[in-house]
Amino acid sequence: MKHYSNSALSKRVDCGQQFKYKYIDQMHEKTKESFIAGGMVDAAVNAIHSNYMNVNMPRVAPENVMSKYVADEKSLFEQELKPEEWDSIKDLSFRIIDQDLFGQFEEFINYEPVTIQPKINIKIHGLSLPIIGYPDLIAKRELPAFQKEGEEWLIFDAKTAGQKPSKPSHGYRQQLATYAMGLMWQKGLKNIPQAELMILVKTKKPYWIRMPVNLTADDLHLAIEAYREHEHAIQARWYPLNRGSRYCSEKNCGFWEQCHADHGSNLESVMSQVSYAS
Ligand code: SF4
Repeated sequence: MKHYSNSALSKRVDCGQQFKYKYIDQMHEKTKESFIAGGMVDAAVNAIHSNYMNVNMPRVAPENVMSKYVADEKSLFEQELKPEEWDSIKDLSFRIIDQDLFGQFEEFINYEPVTIQPKINIKIHGLSLPIIGYPDLIAKRELPAFQKEGEEWLIFDAKTAGQKPSKPSHGYRQQLATYAMGLMWQKGLKNIPQAELMILVKTKKPYWIRMPVNLTADDLHLAIEAYREHEHAIQARWYPLNRGSRYCSEKNCGFWEQCHADHGSNLESVMSQVSYAS
C-alpha cells in the first residue's frame, strides 16, 4: 500500500476481510451494480461540468458519456454481473434520460467549476503514508456578505443512493472533511470551505437531492482520528471479517466466493475446537 484513502478506510471499518483482500492482498474486486451506476452518473456529471468549463468547445452530451461508460464497463466485466443486473443498469440509465435528470442537474448549478476530480494529497503528522482522494469537483461561488473568507470555495461530490437519505452519513462527512483539509492547505484557507453533495436517488422515478454539508473542526478532527486508528489496525494486521455488514451479500461484496471459501469449515474441525465447560 502506497497511500491511505477514505474509501479504503471506510471499507476496512465496514469489513476488515474485504479491505484485506482488496488493499493488502491486491485481489481483483468483482464489480457491482452499484459501482457501475455510481460510475456512470459520475462520468455524466463530469461531462456537464466540463461543458461549463469549456464553453468554446463542442458540447459533450452527458447521456452519451453515460452510455459509453456502461458499454466500456460491460466489455470488461460482463461476466461479473448477472444479465438482469446489466438490464437493471440499462433501465436506470433510460429513466435518467427520460426524466431529464441531467437537465435538472444543470439548473442546480450556482457555482463556477474550477477543477474536475483534482488530486487531494495530505499528510497527517505521525502517519507513515499520505492520504489521497479525488473529489468530483472543486468550484467557487461569489462570497455573500454573511460568509467567511474561504467559504467561497466549494467541494462538490455526486453520489447515488437507493433511498432518500435524511442527512449526510458519517462516511460522507469523513470523506468531505478529508478533502477540506487538503483544499485548506493547498489554498491557504483559514476557514473550512463549503461542501455539498448531489445525490441521485435511484427510485422508480429517480430524482436529485442537493445536500449541503456544514463541516466543522470536529469533523476534521474525527477524520484525523479515524486515519490514525486506520494505521494502527493495518500495523496490527487486524482485519476482522464482518458477516453482519449491510454489504455482506453475493450482490454487494466483490469477494463473496473467496471469503466463503476461506472461512468455510466442516463439523469435525469445528467441534475439535470446543469442549463442554461443566
Ligand atoms: S463476504 Fe462478507 S465478511 Fe466476507 S469479505 Fe465480503 S463483506 Fe466481508
